[in-house]
Amino acid sequence: MKAMVLKKTSDFRDEKSPLEVAELPNPTPKEKEILVRISACGVCHTELDEIEGRTPPPRFPIVLGHQVVGRVESVGPGATRFRSGDRVGIAWIFSACGTCKFCRAGEENLCPDFRATGRDANGGYAELMAVHEDFAYIIPKVFSDAEAAPLLCAGAIGYRSLRLTGLKDGANLGLTGFGASAHLVLKMARHRFPGSKIFVFARNEQERAFARELGAVWAGETSEPSPEKLDSIIDTTPAWTPVVEALKNLEPGGRLVINAIRKEEVDKDALQRLDYPAHLWMEKEIKSVANVARRDVSGFLQLAAEMRIRPEVQEFKLEEANEALTELKAGRVRGAKVLRVP
Ligand SMILES: [Zn+2]
Ligand SMILES: [Zn+2]
Repeated sequence: MKAMVLKKTSDFRDEKSPLEVAELPNPTPKEKEILVRISACGVCHTELDEIEGRTPPPRFPIVLGHQVVGRVESVGPGATRFRSGDRVGIAWIFSACGTCKFCRAGEENLCPDFRATGRDANGGYAELMAVHEDFAYIIPKVFSDAEAAPLLCAGAIGYRSLRLTGLKDGANLGLTGFGASAHLVLKMARHRFPGSKIFVFARNEQERAFARELGAVWAGETSEPSPEKLDSIIDTTPAWTPVVEALKNLEPGGRLVINAIRKEEVDKDALQRLDYPAHLWMEKEIKSVANVARRDVSGFLQLAAEMRIRPEVQEFKLEEANEALTELKAGRVRGAKVLRVP
């Protein structure tokens, strides 16, 4: 099969084409696995983290890509969930042990043996991919292949963040940062919690205007106090200042959820300004979000179909993966980037 492979980590500024076209042997589905003929694969910021070594693959060469859509080509011994021709999606969670206490509780995202698609196992920048049948999802009919791909990452993680806030209808929700994931969260929150008011903190006026357009009752700068106290806040920024600032706005017993894989070091001194009585006293909580569990992916796909969420996508050919990544790195993010295969 044809694939775009990564052979080593490198700095994107020096190496503009980190992925190479390669001809790899077709994967054979093992026990309980399915073989998927890929039609679309989303391009995510995490691929840049893998290429540049912030979350490096443990072995090379590796096929990146964790927002995979395709059709079941064949099934391995003992696989019974799908039939050939079924349209399925594969997300960031490739596998987990299935027996530890986290797996048994449905929190397999926390499993010590968590393996990621396109980092710990070959992913979707290819024509074919094999995966355990329990880690694939039926794609709702309302989406085209290219539309479904980007929903498998940012949407699922946003869905998990919203779930972890424990928000109840009518309670106030705050969002710090307003990128792709946050605006999906805003749409989801309005749908699921129609009685809740949403307050958005964002650095630039364009983002704030967009937030109001999507139904935020208020949008202000990161350091502005919100006009009402907030029961839950989701932080999607890479920095610390917004976290410290946001804590002032939390209600007693409120929770702030950090949805970020890594935080930057640049403004870490903001933590020195943490004032216990103002920011944490009165049982305020801080919680992070790690990876996704399968129920987040399936729950979000169902919700996205119900809400008719239609992501705007920009398509590239598989061989153009380097170009897609270059545009993503440069911040030219008009719509989600999706590789079309073949
Ligand atoms: Zn991703
Ligand atoms: Zn486990």
